[in-house]
This record gives sequence, C-alpha cells and structure tokens, in this order.
Amino acid sequence: MTSQTIPADWPACVRFRFLTIVGATVDVMPQPIVAAPDSHEAFCRGCDASYSSATGVNAELKKWAQAHSETCRALPRPTA
Ligand SMILES: [Zn+2]
Repeated sequence: MTSQTIPADWPACVRFRFLTIVGATVDVMPQPIVAAPDSHEAFCRGCDASYSSATGVNAELKKWAQAHSETCRALPRPTA
C-alpha cells in the first residue's frame, strides 16, 4: 500500500486539480490574459504540458487533465 500526500496549497484560481501518479498536479484554471472570456487551461505542474479551452471547463479539457495525470511521471520542482 502506498501513501500519497496532497499539496496543501491550493490557489483560489484552481477550479479542478488532478493528482499525477508521482505527486505532481494538473491544475485547471481560468486564463484571464486570453481574449476569450471563458478560456480555461489545464496545466501540469510536473512537465509544464498544457491544454487550453476557449469555452470554459468542458469535457475535453477534463478528459485531457485526467488522461495526463494518469500517465505523467514528471516530478514537480521543489519550491523551497
Ligand atoms: Zn505532465
């Protein structure tokens, strides 16, 4: 049996968070800079891969985040 720790710092802008198999996260958050008002991005904190949606948090965005979190083995960079 393995134990996993969920990062305690959850930024307010992150709407959904998927945990990868090595402890990084794939965060789904709005993209305020992009022109489309409901743009969201899924961003992997382990390998910097990302997937964008101009129409909000839709099924494709969640599907990408779920699939990426299941396979990515990149470790997040230590913060301290
Ligand atoms: Zn990744």
